[in-house]
Amino acid sequence: MKIEVLGCSGGMGKDEYTTCIRINDQLLIDAGSGLGCLSQQEMLKIKHVFLTHAHMDHICFLPLLLDNLFEQLTSPLQVYGLGDVIDALQSHVFNWSIWPDFSKLPSPDNAVLHFNQIEVNQQFQLDNIALQAITAQHVVPACGYVVRDSLGGVFCFSGDTRFDEQVIAAYNQLGVIDVLMLECAFPNRLSEVATKSQHLTPSALRDFILALDMPPRDLWITHLKPSVREEIWAELMELNLPVTVHLLRSGDTFFLEHNRCAPKS
Ligand SMILES: [Zn+2]
Ligand SMILES: [Zn+2]
Repeated sequence: MKIEVLGCSGGMGKDEYTTCIRINDQLLIDAGSGLGCLSQQEMLKIKHVFLTHAHMDHICFLPLLLDNLFEQLTSPLQVYGLGDVIDALQSHVFNWSIWPDFSKLPSPDNAVLHFNQIEVNQQFQLDNIALQAITAQHVVPACGYVVRDSLGGVFCFSGDTRFDEQVIAAYNQLGVIDVLMLECAFPNRLSEVATKSQHLTPSALRDFILALDMPPRDLWITHLKPSVREEIWAELMELNLPVTVHLLRSGDTFFLEHNRCAPKS
């Protein structure tokens, strides 16, 4: 499984792009500003977009993607999300005021955008990739995703979430996780803000990892707010977690196989 981190920042700035993960060239998890790093040809290969939630940093380039591809798409772009996520996109983004409703263009019978409402735990098989929505607890309805390929590699992305027993229970049902990509938006000093916005701090992230029956082989850290990146990273390094910890950067590419995950050389 090829996993490209097009964006993984909790904010914006030079070389900072928000959440967008591309898997095997044709599937995206979230459509943050990292999506803008793709060429037109690469965008055309995208067939499926799975959304964790409707917050701006995770959906902001979806409207522009559809605009870019409008003339060239021969089949609709399939966009998947929880019912509340689809509702939010239809009400607040693709509403003709903020952006055209591409789910009705060029005509309702032949539209370039198709919304697919999903449920937590629902599973999808797309070519040699199996995808499952997994529970997350955030300030708005949200989920994460578990991605498995035919070679046995297991990649989990938490989306935006707080530490929560329900979330842990869901992860503990998964068995072996090769790579867990977990957010850590705020330093411990801002734990009150993290609690209110339902994000993780290093301290909450440690609780998350230690509550897992089986820690993941690799832990990828994502969604750091740029202004406090160094502070969060220093706190994470002090934790001495029983896993290999990697601070993700936009542009990172990995080839994941079961028991092996190699960065692109
Ligand atoms: Zn969020
Ligand atoms: Zn976010």
